[in-house]
Amino acid sequence: MAEQQGHMKALRCRECGREYPLEARHVCEFDFGPLEVVYDYEAVKDKLTRKTIEGRRQNMWRYAELLPVAGEPTVGQEVGFTPLIKADRLAERLGVRELWIKNDAVNYPTLSFKDRVVSVALSRAREMGFDVVACASTGNLANSVAANAASAGLKAFVFIPNDLEKGKVVNSLIYDASVIGIKGHYDEVNRLCAEIAGKYNWAFVNVNMRPYYAEGSKSQGFEIVEQLGWKIPRHTVVPMASGSLLTKIHKSYQEAVKIGLVEQVEYSVHGAQAAGCAPISTAFKEGQDFFKPVKPDTIAKSLAIGTPADGFYALKVFQETGGASDDVTDDEIREGIRLLAETEGIFSETAGGVTVGVAKKLIASGAIPADDSAVLCITGNGLKTLDAVENHAGQALEIGPSLREFEALLQSDKELGTAKQK
Ligand SMILES: *Cc1c(COP(=O)(O)O)cnc(C)c1O
Ligand SMILES: [Zn+2]
Repeated sequence: MAEQQGHMKALRCRECGREYPLEARHVCEFDFGPLEVVYDYEAVKDKLTRKTIEGRRQNMWRYAELLPVAGEPTVGQEVGFTPLIKADRLAERLGVRELWIKNDAVNYPTLSFKDRVVSVALSRAREMGFDVVACASTGNLANSVAANAASAGLKAFVFIPNDLEKGKVVNSLIYDASVIGIKGHYDEVNRLCAEIAGKYNWAFVNVNMRPYYAEGSKSQGFEIVEQLGWKIPRHTVVPMASGSLLTKIHKSYQEAVKIGLVEQVEYSVHGAQAAGCAPISTAFKEGQDFFKPVKPDTIAKSLAIGTPADGFYALKVFQETGGASDDVTDDEIREGIRLLAETEGIFSETAGGVTVGVAKKLIASGAIPADDSAVLCITGNGLKTLDAVENHAGQALEIGPSLREFEALLQSDKELGTAKQK
């Protein structure tokens, strides 16, 4: 029915399996199920071998055959291939044998994993002929759409809740995008964007373009398996807003097996949320298949989605992989940010504090056994959420420019670490 484009065969409903042409649409007309891109895996299998991948440039497009763009990507060519860091000092503090940090806090160009999904969505939007792009965002998506649209010469509208961190607002405005702050929380922003998308012929990356957009997250999972020497990690801890990244990391592991890049092994994908917005982890802990929507109240604004579009499927991933899900308070989030900074020299945003805090809980509870290995997905940069930690990081010591004053300072407090706390 649908016409194949590149390696994409069709869009398919996750619920009833009905297929649709490869257009800008995201829900099934019959049951409102989400649509997903179907690939020609036989053709992909022949082309996408370890050897071809390793011979390509180090960015997310080295896995192009499993990303939903028919021609060459034209937006975000340098995105991805962020470092995977062996985190021995953090592992010791959390009491687990081996830890790795997948560090998307330094993703190009806007310092969050959202550059992956946006480069796919905008490349696809462009080849479909759109010249206006838009999004409903909790902050990082707005930054990435604004920046990548600027470099591609596309007009961008970004819609955000009006209470976001200053760093995230400025980081959208600077690229000359139209930034529209909505007096309401993310779920209201999203509802408005669905209405606008129905009326204007714009590519809303996470509304009508969502099937393409979401696939971009798989690149993080492909990189993890490649950087581990073509192995799926035993445990992966992923922060959740809509739950999309988590479901796509799971999908990337399955696809890597399907096309013969890695061996099938047992693995678990775990989810992390903030206690102030934990619809998915609450449902998991109560043993429910469905989540109850919540009104967000947390410093982890990037994860503050009270009605997560992929929450239902995230819960399925825990079931299928033996994963767990938990949540942490604002204080635990700040503690997680500091712990990662002190042990590994990585300054993450609040979402990273959530991931580290939840990993700590999962290790303590045995959901991640002490003798196992885990990858923690750090998805955004701390410089964008300074507001969350600025009154909790201590203060610089101040003296005049003289050696005498410096030595007096050392004398007055041998343990400068203690002085810092004051
Ligand atoms: C958007 C975002 C996530 C998670 O997004 P999903 O909607 O679950 O895919 C995680 N971390 C950061 C920093 C984000 O901006
Ligand atoms: Zn359907």
